[in-house]
Amino acid sequence: MRPQPAGLYLHVPFCRCRCSYCDFAATTELSLVPAWYQAVCQEVRRWQKDFSLFDTFYLGGGTPSLLQPSILIYLFEELRRFFRFTPDAEITLEANPEDVFPENLRLWRSLGINRLSLGLQSLEEEDLRFLGRRHTGLVAEKALRTSLEAGFDCVSVDLISGLPGQTEKKWERVLTRLEKEKPAHISCYQLTIKKSTILAVRKENGERVVAEEKQQEKLFLQTSSWWRKHGYLHYEVSSFAAGERYKSRHNLKYWRRQPYLGLGPAAHSFSGNRRWWNVADIRRYCEMILAGCEAVAGREELTPEQERLEEIFLGLRTAEGVPLHLLSDNPQLERTLSTLQKNRLLSREGERIRPTPAGYLFADVLPLWLTGELPVSVLPLSEEMC
Ligand code: SF4
Repeated sequence: MRPQPAGLYLHVPFCRCRCSYCDFAATTELSLVPAWYQAVCQEVRRWQKDFSLFDTFYLGGGTPSLLQPSILIYLFEELRRFFRFTPDAEITLEANPEDVFPENLRLWRSLGINRLSLGLQSLEEEDLRFLGRRHTGLVAEKALRTSLEAGFDCVSVDLISGLPGQTEKKWERVLTRLEKEKPAHISCYQLTIKKSTILAVRKENGERVVAEEKQQEKLFLQTSSWWRKHGYLHYEVSSFAAGERYKSRHNLKYWRRQPYLGLGPAAHSFSGNRRWWNVADIRRYCEMILAGCEAVAGREELTPEQERLEEIFLGLRTAEGVPLHLLSDNPQLERTLSTLQKNRLLSREGERIRPTPAGYLFADVLPLWLTGELPVSVLPLSEEMC
């Protein structure tokens, strides 16, 4: 039997500075790059027997685009020495706009990278300063244009909505400018304030650092209808694609519970019913791996019931939805479905239910309503959502 190709994720935990909203496993200590590189190479050898074939590879971070060309070249050589990739593998590199220039683009393409994920976040100077980003709106636009001109067919851009004082009018300016460049994919996240971030400290000091919840919802729905109006598929809570072939094949593996291997600090892996994840502390990760140990911080084995709940939870974050048989043990199911359909949060096609764009706003509670964990009568609907 041919092995099922898995997804490969590599966490590159280095950044030039810390953005105000960021709590990712990342450091500005670039002197750790050589130790991290050695450790990753060790991890590759460790996993070569368990994971032999990949059809997606995602270099995320952190800021993978700041890696020196020589390190990237050696990394790809090492990976190709021990792992096999399918000829049509989707290979994504996360890049910050300030790293996008012709020499880098040529190098990335020569390594087989065929998808770029650009961390734009916004095109408005005020937003970018608030988020602590180093680039300007013009640099961001230029990065997108240069990537397309360099022959990258699939360029994805990351956006963040829900900043304090962000009106629909201001947000429309960003969407309009961006749409002109026709990116193949957009990931748009709502700003959330995570513990120990710069914004969390500013919030403690009494500053308003995020838009009100109602405004967040409006911006979310505006984003959804904007991209759909321009022909994009809103195929996951935060993801839009300019057609089926531009959906992120790598991220689909997470939502479909297909196997993936994560290398690097804080990286998560999944296979069968097992999940494990590496320590997030970068020094500790390097020390453990280079001492010949695993750097696994935790692992879990899911029971069939946990797998069912996970399938429901992840499925309801995507336009693929879930088959009704997964919910058959809820005696109130028909009533719940009818309420959610009436409120246009779910659609039903035969034996499958799918969240609508408004339903995505309730992605966390839909599974609880549908499994009967929470009574659906608490549905907090507002006019605009219907
Ligand atoms: S948001 Fe991205 S670029 Fe900014 S500090 Fe976090 S990982 Fe680095």
